[in-house]
Amino acid sequence: MTQETGGFAALDLNPNIVAAVLATGYEEPSAIQQQSIPIILAGHDMIGQAQTGTGKTAAFALPILNKIDVSKREPQALILAPTRELALQVATAFETYAKQMPGVNVVAVYGGAPMGPQLRAIRNGAQIVVATPGRLCDHLRRDEKVLSTVQYLVLDEADEMLKLGFMDDLEVIFDAIPASRQTVLFSATLPSSIRSIAERHLREPKHVKIQSKTQTVTAIEQAHLMVHADQKIPAVLRLLEVEEFDALIAFVRTKQATLDLAAALEAKGYKAAALNGDIAQNQRERVIDSLKDGRLDIVVATDVAARGLDVPRITHVFNVDMPYDPESYVHRIGRTGRAGRDGRALLLVTPRERRMLQVIERVTGQKVAEARLPNAQAVLDARIKKLTNSLAPLVAEAEATHGELFDRLTADLGCSARALASALLRKATNGQALDLATVEREQPLVPSFAPRGERTERGERSDRGDRGDRGGDRERRAPMPLAEGRVRCRTALGARDGIAAKNLLGAILNEGGLARDAIGRIQVRDSFSLIELPEDGLEKLLSKLKDTRVAGKQLKLRRYRED
Ligand code: ADP
Ligand code: MG
Repeated sequence: MTQETGGFAALDLNPNIVAAVLATGYEEPSAIQQQSIPIILAGHDMIGQAQTGTGKTAAFALPILNKIDVSKREPQALILAPTRELALQVATAFETYAKQMPGVNVVAVYGGAPMGPQLRAIRNGAQIVVATPGRLCDHLRRDEKVLSTVQYLVLDEADEMLKLGFMDDLEVIFDAIPASRQTVLFSATLPSSIRSIAERHLREPKHVKIQSKTQTVTAIEQAHLMVHADQKIPAVLRLLEVEEFDALIAFVRTKQATLDLAAALEAKGYKAAALNGDIAQNQRERVIDSLKDGRLDIVVATDVAARGLDVPRITHVFNVDMPYDPESYVHRIGRTGRAGRDGRALLLVTPRERRMLQVIERVTGQKVAEARLPNAQAVLDARIKKLTNSLAPLVAEAEATHGELFDRLTADLGCSARALASALLRKATNGQALDLATVEREQPLVPSFAPRGERTERGERSDRGDRGDRGGDRERRAPMPLAEGRVRCRTALGARDGIAAKNLLGAILNEGGLARDAIGRIQVRDSFSLIELPEDGLEKLLSKLKDTRVAGKQLKLRRYRED
């Protein structure tokens, strides 16, 4: 055994496996690999607890590859994973690690694809089956013997499988595999439901626990920003102007929110797509592939749809909606900073979510510093930098190809070179004026919140219940700065009347005859809405809108005075 092949060679693995692992660029086994591989090789049952990104896949895949008998063409190892994406990822990892072991066959089994070919692949000599529990149970119903030769069972991301409701399916699968099997369970967390599974189905398991929280997040720069709930999309758009990202994943809570944000991003010209549980499986896979190879730069996902995604290009994670618990937060931000790279994670926090931020900080043992939305100057600088970067390669060459045309045009137009260049710039920027006043005008107003810790007792209480006009209360305590020359108007129509900001905007644009940029922020609360309008000509505007109806109800817009 040579010294320079280092840790992997010392693990008693088949040299073909070690060679394949080194060929993929791994140098040293990670902590979970170092500890799990000898235990699994020795035939023990095992419970492995480690966070996302610690290398759990190879921790079980390498020893299992070492154990299977390639000459036997029957299922020997079964890996269960919570989602199709994860199952595919694990199957691909097996194939990578088995590159120098001819005769190894891996099959991935999951819902949303025809069952016939999957079952045939299992019967035709796959030694390793990677499956989601639901689909595997479908196969068991067709052929209860299909798992009768399995000797090694791995539950990957066991906590996620339980969260997704696979408990009953797992029981069926346990029963369909010979009791003499070796069972290994990996999980980021060990809630009592997992412990109870382990007690019933594992034999004297060895425990491996990797305290990797700090390790997981150290490579990731974290920050949070305070925003109002209805300002999240403008806030994201603004952040994207200045963040230098390669690929980015934005997390939201609902399927609808994935669609809304993805649409807003696409409208701004970003290569973005939504990823949620409603999107057909093959389409989801295409989205992930596109993110991997750069056809997409932004994916807007729910937690479940993005579970375990491993796309090394991801440099940024935007937590647009709060995660449900600190574990999900760690999971989410683990999508960036993969394999020791740097990553950046931003968290948008609405006033009522501050407490969750504190919980996250406590659990991860780290402060998530507050950042501010970039101001107009920063946005302007970023835009000019982008323009400069796009022109840089051209100035070296374009004169040779277009210099004569330029001379001809200045002559024909009888204008200065500066005038012509300015006209071309206006065209190149689609008329977007790159000056501070313009950027200030088109950017959403940034909310100003009291610094942390200055929350009032009343603020605490209104965090709990969401009762109609209470929102107004909050608004008054944390007033939004109004732009020069604008006033706030109020209508008694709100979300409970089925009103969205775009309905109000549409009505005022159509019937008030205003230009889009004359209208400022629109805040839709449950029982009322606030709209920022120009003070100049307000009386005339309000009388024009006197009979305007929105969603079948009278708008009755009034000037709103906050004190
Ligand atoms: P987990 O399942 O714990 O979330 P993965 O098994 O998906 O982690 O591995 C995370 C990333 O780290 C993958 O990109 C994988 O290729 C890489 N990786 C795993 N083990 C090593 C290692 N020993 N050296 C370098 N990179 C590794
Ligand atoms: Mg994993």
